[in-house]
Amino acid sequence: MICCTECFSDLEIKAAIESNGHKGNCPVCGANNVWLYDSEKDTGSSEFEELIYSIVEIYKCEDELDDTFPEEDKKALEEHLIQDWNIFAVSLEGVREIVSGIIENTIGADRRLLVQRTGIPELYDEIYLNENSIMGKYSWEDFRRYLRNENRFHSKYLNLNVLEEILRNTADTLKSRTVFYRGRISDKKGYARKEMGAPPSDKALPGRANSKGIACLYLANKKETTVKEIRANAFDYVTIGAFELKRDIKIVDLSVISHTSPFYASTDKIKYLINAKHLKNMENDLAKPVSSRDSDLDYLPTQYISDFAKYLGYDGVKYISTFDKESYNLALFDTGICNCIDCKNYLIGDLAYTLHHV
Ligand SMILES: [Zn+2]
Repeated sequence: MICCTECFSDLEIKAAIESNGHKGNCPVCGANNVWLYDSEKDTGSSEFEELIYSIVEIYKCEDELDDTFPEEDKKALEEHLIQDWNIFAVSLEGVREIVSGIIENTIGADRRLLVQRTGIPELYDEIYLNENSIMGKYSWEDFRRYLRNENRFHSKYLNLNVLEEILRNTADTLKSRTVFYRGRISDKKGYARKEMGAPPSDKALPGRANSKGIACLYLANKKETTVKEIRANAFDYVTIGAFELKRDIKIVDLSVISHTSPFYASTDKIKYLINAKHLKNMENDLAKPVSSRDSDLDYLPTQYISDFAKYLGYDGVKYISTFDKESYNLALFDTGICNCIDCKNYLIGDLAYTLHHV
């Protein structure tokens, strides 16, 4: 079997193929003069096989799944791989060709995986989930409903030990003096610098990372993003404040879920798969723009998670902006952690959000 770097979107896999050190044409995706994995030359010496097999081996063939395993989750291996892992850049047939090659070349691999439907038994194993999943056997939806309608402050739907460990794996440090931005829709005169910080706690409105009465400063790493986040329209005036961190801060970085590879650390792949899904839901909810049509109840799950991160001693949460996938937002729990060093008023020129300094 021959495949290439272009068959994959995952950076770790691409690097493993590149380190085989030979180029050529790829029969799977059709790319020319690309780094190749060639089982004739590379079997036994390429890390690529190990990486792919480390996710293939978590699937069990139908003969090995017990009667309680749901029918609708029994699928062909390549279907599962495409659905569960964001690592391939080829079609279903391409994935099948690659995976067949790997299984046929791996001693001890279960060849039934290629002819029977497959599944991951642990996903439906309550004991496994209770020990390894942030949500135990529950889903993000269950958690949301429970907080909203049953019990706001004490939840059995969250496995705090696992959540603490998973958040620790996403932790990152942002350096002192890094600059972030906050925008407010204004009038022609604009806001003064002292008006650009977060409102005092007692006046704080609820947001996705803070409950009513608990101040939180929402920032973005780009000016344009902050304008989009506050949903300013063409010909609105906006004041944009620049905030500089006074010290290094430690944050939970939910954006790593969309940006890192499952192969980055030698984590348990099943645990990774289960919790990546929960973290993605958390990040999506956190990144949803605040709207006047929202109920405060919509914010409860992300407020709960943010409060937990704050309780663990983190200074804030970082998450991708829904408006601009290249930039990110930051919710800071301690609003005094940065100084507003600059403040300018802008007129929004058009809906491409060009900014005209006024
Ligand atoms: Zn290819």
